[in-house]
Amino acid sequence: MSDFTILIHGGAGTILKEDMTPELELAYLSGLQQTLQVSYAVLEEGGTAVNAVKAAIVLLEDNVLFNAGKGSVFTKKGVQEMDAAIMDGMDLSAGAVAGVRNVRNPIELAMEVMRNSNHVFLSGKGANDFAIKQGVKLEPDEYFFSQFRYDQWKSIRDSDNYSLDHTHHHLEELLRDKKFGTVGAVACDRFGNLAAATSTGGMTNKKYGRIGDSPMIGAGTYANNQTCAISCTGHGEMFIRAVAAYDVSCLMEYKGLSLQEAMDVVVNEKLIAIQGEGGMIGVDGAGNAGLVFNSAGMYRGIKNSKGIDQVAIYK
Ligand code: ASP
Repeated sequence: MSDFTILIHGGAGTILKEDMTPELELAYLSGLQQTLQVSYAVLEEGGTAVNAVKAAIVLLEDNVLFNAGKGSVFTKKGVQEMDAAIMDGMDLSAGAVAGVRNVRNPIELAMEVMRNSNHVFLSGKGANDFAIKQGVKLEPDEYFFSQFRYDQWKSIRDSDNYSLDHTHHHLEELLRDKKFGTVGAVACDRFGNLAAATSTGGMTNKKYGRIGDSPMIGAGTYANNQTCAISCTGHGEMFIRAVAAYDVSCLMEYKGLSLQEAMDVVVNEKLIAIQGEGGMIGVDGAGNAGLVFNSAGMYRGIKNSKGIDQVAIYK
């Protein structure tokens, strides 16, 4: 029996206390807290890591505050195209979807791909057809409409700019004020199994079928019982180029680094070297947790069988 742990994130970036109202801060914190309670209960009741991370992501996708599921950002065409991935470290099974529309919980669809298809990664219309075949819950466009995401998109939709989350009118502003709202979870269950999951609406005003790191196994999401489970958030292009999540696993496997050391190298050295802003959460097979970000803040939470139970936003 090992210690069991769940970590969650709701995105990283320039999240500053002075930009936040007390009400909004409370709403974020209670969303994180509630997600932790529900997903930790899965582990406490003897559930698996993969079921715990899925439970966490479903709640975060249903919460309009986060850029995933219901709260997903608008694309250039004014719709939501969502990406998600889940990986089970026990047998390296994985499922991922990209550019799916009207799927209430893209993580459920990623789970279907993992469990009930011969494939790992489905995209676009094909992924939507598979959702219908598997009976995954769909929602009309209105379900995904939120006024603040719409306003944020309206302010840049006539430009070629894209934005990682929240309001950015110009590229300079985007570079100065980056925020990311992707959601993720990693867990170690009482049997020492690891799992990771990540879900996102991607970037506001994205086009050409742009896909970020979140659904890419090895870039934004990775789990392997021999090393670690990792879920990333940040400027996806850099995380793809750094193969960030798998690099943490490699540093542990081939160089013998601890989880924390490996995460530090990837986030604070390798990603910074290519201006990759963001962060990641991780857990190893002994239930040790890691949490590293090179941005001003990251919505995050951790709960484990040793009694740690924390949510936080700022550095
Ligand atoms: N990594 C995500 C992407 O590039 C964005 C985020 O983390 O919020 O799609």
